[in-house]
Amino acid sequence: MRYSQYLLPTLKETPSDAEVVSHQLMLRAGMIRKVAAGIYDYLPLGLRSLRKVEQIVREEMDRAGAHEVLMPMVVPAELWQESGRWQQYGKELLRLKDRKQGEFCLGPTHEEVITDIVRNDVRSYRQLPLNLYQIQTKFRDEIRPRFGLMRGREFIMKDAYSFDMDDAGADRSYDRMYQAYRRIFERCGLKFRAVEADTGNIGGSSSHEFMVLAASGEDEIVSCDSCEYAANVEKAEIRSAGQKAAEPGAPLEKVLTPARKTIEEVSAFLKVEPRQLIKTLIMQTDTGETLAVLLRGDRELNDVKLCRLLDCAWVEMATEDVVLKATGAPSGFAGPVGLDLRIVADFEVQAMSDFIVGANEKDAHFTGANLGRDIEVEQFADLRKAEAGDPCPRCDGLLEVWRGIEVGHVFKLGTKYSEALGAKVLDDQGHERTLVMGCYGIGVGRTVAAAIEQNHDENGIIWPLAVAPFQVLVVMLNPNDEAVREAADDLYRQLLAAGVEVLLDDRDERPGFKFKDADLVGIPLRVTVGARGLKDGQVEFKERAGGEVRMLPLGEAAAEVAEQVRKGLGL
Ligand SMILES: [Zn+2]
Repeated sequence: MRYSQYLLPTLKETPSDAEVVSHQLMLRAGMIRKVAAGIYDYLPLGLRSLRKVEQIVREEMDRAGAHEVLMPMVVPAELWQESGRWQQYGKELLRLKDRKQGEFCLGPTHEEVITDIVRNDVRSYRQLPLNLYQIQTKFRDEIRPRFGLMRGREFIMKDAYSFDMDDAGADRSYDRMYQAYRRIFERCGLKFRAVEADTGNIGGSSSHEFMVLAASGEDEIVSCDSCEYAANVEKAEIRSAGQKAAEPGAPLEKVLTPARKTIEEVSAFLKVEPRQLIKTLIMQTDTGETLAVLLRGDRELNDVKLCRLLDCAWVEMATEDVVLKATGAPSGFAGPVGLDLRIVADFEVQAMSDFIVGANEKDAHFTGANLGRDIEVEQFADLRKAEAGDPCPRCDGLLEVWRGIEVGHVFKLGTKYSEALGAKVLDDQGHERTLVMGCYGIGVGRTVAAAIEQNHDENGIIWPLAVAPFQVLVVMLNPNDEAVREAADDLYRQLLAAGVEVLLDDRDERPGFKFKDADLVGIPLRVTVGARGLKDGQVEFKERAGGEVRMLPLGEAAAEVAEQVRKGLGL
């Protein structure tokens, strides 16, 4: 492609309404333009990256045995009425009427349509397992679309649906998709984790979110440094070290801590580390219980874990009144010694001895407190929020903490739609069986945006080679110099002939201007052809990701760069 004849309108300034990096850079690099809130044009450069992701998705879905279909974007209301979602779905569903007053919606997802295909055309267990997918434009009428392609109203998505006769089959389909998703995001060149997601009552490992790691990610996740375990921080388990506490070495002693309420204030005042204190949290539940939760001083409570332990819907910190009534002291001085409440404690507390706790008395704490002798704990459990360095629940590895952007989701759906729409087959005994479904989504535009969130610097995008709009940029430094023009044109043609995707910057612009655009647009490999290098028969080679500038002999440049592309793609 010749830049001089290409539509690649780069912007110097960051558009004021773009809050996140990927949105800013996609606008500045001339990839997208806004048409309406949450609705975009994909300009040529942007579309090339989208198509790259789509192609990888398509190849891996096909390899996993799924078959591509294309369902309509406009879906009749009847199908959604059959599943009950026409009534349940909120204003995110864009509903419309045709000229005959027939009701329709713009599909945000296609469970009903796909189930309709299967109930009409699949009758026998011999046709199973079946997995159908599409890559489609979808619409969800978000109230506040933001962040460009990260949260648009119109978006391109791959959605797949599997159909099996029983749970075991559905599990196998799920695993195939899980593995296909790992290959997809690996091939895209992205750092990611497959995170166990909350499945409500389905349980087990039958829902995973695929998260691209990026500092700007909206979700906090943890992952193991040596196995595949990864989870949202709310859900992340911590292996109990199972340590026993040392024998008490100190007597229980009351000390004055005037106006020192927080862990930081008390530990600074008593000149000890926060980890030598125990935090006593007085909590209330939706079931009306008040109880005390003990954590090591430097740890944080994970509400979700506490709710699971207590089998309640929510917990909250007790109000000042309740704390005063339960402990006899204002908050900040609560402690487990002599406390007339149910006490639960985090596993870590089990290993502590001679620690400091509140004395249930204003301006006082106990030192030398010990379990058993001074404190009766009803139950120990995993109650704290996971942190970097905590032991993995599945192996001997340690947990790492990341931020992530969700780009894909695999979900074992069960029989919700097949039952509502009557999708059944006959098994080998001639009995009718309701199909067990799975659904599997990948946000194609979101994946492109996440690739940018993960790979950029202050000058622009740094594309992973596999999803870059072009693989190589040839910069013609002075198009008015005939030798330069000829050499650059020749190199361009040789690269094209070698099957490399090349953009030739043949614009009559200053070198500084061209290099700025080159960094902004972020094509991974750059070859610069200029008069100075040509005198020695050389061109300059540089990778956008960094590293040394190398001089290549003009005659070998095309072959060398083509080889770099092949290597970069793992071919
Ligand atoms: Zn592990």
